[in-house]
Amino acid sequence: MNKKSVKDIDVTGKKVLVRCDFNVPQDEEGNITDNRRIVAALDTIKYLLEKKAKVILCSHLGRPKGEFNTKYSLAPVAKELSRLLGQEVKLAKDVIGEDAKKLASELQEGQVILLENVRFHKEEEKNDSEFSKELASLAEIYVNDAFGTAHRAHSSTEGVSHYLPAVCGFLIQKEINFMGGALENPKKPFVAILGGAKVSDKIGVIENLLEKVDKLIIGGGMAYTFAKAQGQNIGNSICENDKLDLANEIIAKAKQKGVELLLPVDSHISTEYSNNGQDKFVKAGDIPDGWEGLDIGPETIKIFEDAVKDAKTVIWNGPLGVCEFDKFSVGTKAIAIAISKTDAVSIVGGGDSAAAIEKLGLSDKFSHISTGGGASLEFLEGKKLPGIECLMDKE
Ligand code: AMP
Repeated sequence: MNKKSVKDIDVTGKKVLVRCDFNVPQDEEGNITDNRRIVAALDTIKYLLEKKAKVILCSHLGRPKGEFNTKYSLAPVAKELSRLLGQEVKLAKDVIGEDAKKLASELQEGQVILLENVRFHKEEEKNDSEFSKELASLAEIYVNDAFGTAHRAHSSTEGVSHYLPAVCGFLIQKEINFMGGALENPKKPFVAILGGAKVSDKIGVIENLLEKVDKLIIGGGMAYTFAKAQGQNIGNSICENDKLDLANEIIAKAKQKGVELLLPVDSHISTEYSNNGQDKFVKAGDIPDGWEGLDIGPETIKIFEDAVKDAKTVIWNGPLGVCEFDKFSVGTKAIAIAISKTDAVSIVGGGDSAAAIEKLGLSDKFSHISTGGGASLEFLEGKKLPGIECLMDKE
């Protein structure tokens, strides 16, 4: 996958519509409680401003259900952007209305405006062609830099690309380079680590990765479905009983493909789903009724650490235990540390694993922390993301 980026197109003096992900968390008063998504967008915006483009930013925020609602206004984002850029970012009162058109037509080189929330129009999520055309008519070039919504074909993520030359910004480019690179041409050994609550959420990822990896490590809640499928006692551990056959099929497929599949050999179990129950370590398959497995045990940690040691590419998605509870975050932390010590290209997707890495202060030891939950899962499933597919290919 080789898509054109902002660097492959002449943006000087041009009106450039940039789809960002400014879907930031806010408190009751509308104050932004975490500005990282805005900060992450700055590289592309600054590049365009330095190149003397006329920059028109757009984004969604929350779920306003297709109508104007001040609660979901991008006004706080415009304010924060102005502060971070050190220059005024005017907010249009609408998306494709009078005010947006006026501000866009008045833009000078090196200036930037922000349109109101694209989801104030129900046409946005319907990828309505008239709405897409109107939005596109504000600009001469389209840049998609919102990876978190790239798996959705909406007007501002896909529709506009039918009417404008379309390229990616630096954030999407990084996602393509790392995740695309790992999936298309990984340095070997290639190890994938999957955790999280459910097998059903990760089936597509497992199937796609089984075609590519040398080792597949499975931990977290989903490991108990595999354990039960293998006839082990899992007590009250989380389990998807309708996925037992599937778990066995995955085990068989791994064998057939020559992929080393590593499952937990012991568990840290508890009498309740909390930090406060009784707890102990048991061998896999020895979980008594009334107890549930909330983390991998020390033997498993050793095996998993060993399995990543010599990896040259690592993809990790999902925690290996209930990392929300301190007592059961040990396995997840240990794996984060083990990956950080390798010289592998290391890619992390999923909010929980990324949060664990950040808590440990290890973020800069990873090659890439993907910014999109659903989008990165679909990428790892090998699906084509409409917001990326629609961009121009490099020759
Ligand atoms: P996901 O969003 O699929 O990556 O799943 C993340 C969730 O999986 C987290 O909230 C974890 O608490 C949960 N999880 C991980 N291990 C277990 C487990 N052994 N039992 C129950 N939930 C788990």
